[in-house]
Amino acid sequence: MVISVTDKLLGVFGGTFDPLHIGHLRSVMDVQQALAMQQIRLLPNYIPAHREKPVLEARQRYQLLQKVLLDTPGLVADDREIVRQGVSYMVDTLHDLKQQFAQKHLCLIIGSDAYLQFCDWHDWQQILQLAHLVVMKRAGVAKPLNKQLDHRLTNDKRLLSAETAGKIIFQDVCQLEISSTQIREMIRKKQSIQFLVPEIIRSDLQTLYEG
Ligand code: ATP
Repeated sequence: MVISVTDKLLGVFGGTFDPLHIGHLRSVMDVQQALAMQQIRLLPNYIPAHREKPVLEARQRYQLLQKVLLDTPGLVADDREIVRQGVSYMVDTLHDLKQQFAQKHLCLIIGSDAYLQFCDWHDWQQILQLAHLVVMKRAGVAKPLNKQLDHRLTNDKRLLSAETAGKIIFQDVCQLEISSTQIREMIRKKQSIQFLVPEIIRSDLQTLYEG
């Protein structure tokens, strides 16, 4: 079904982006197009809630994101978690976004792995009062099950515009087997990261992670 670009849906994609890679970018772009979102905001965390300290400083991770997204109007680098400091809880970020974009229906974009762990997230029930969930999955791969959430599932994209929050939709995306860990490891081993990261930041990454 073809749906027109709606100004109702605002995509929210948080991550550590240590560093950003084309796996992140291609998959959110697929979400943007499939759900006809005008904009997705990419938010590097300051202190990630569920993982070890990133290698690069938050500002550096944000600046790389900004550089890559300069000519991609639908994808926007957002530094609010860095400005806020402290542990970056998504629930706080969504509260903040809801204040700024009161008319929008927020769609929190996460990977299938994150969906399985979602009920461990800080204040996850509140998150579902503030946003829909869009779970990215590879085409042809079965949907992961999460018994506490499955009653919210829908296949109907129109419900994301019709309702303000609380729905969960799975979206097929082109999922590339790339991770930031892999990129950091390749730089450490002095292997080429060409075609795995945006070309515009390739040499920056080599300098920053080698240093
Ligand atoms: P790391 O290897 O350091 O754990 P990562 O590559 O998983 O990093 P993150 O910044 O932690 O990157 O991920 C942010 C978000 O991007 C998460 O929701 C994660 O599921 C998703 N993501 C990561 N890699 C991919 C990929 N190759 N394709 C689609 N989504 C991805």
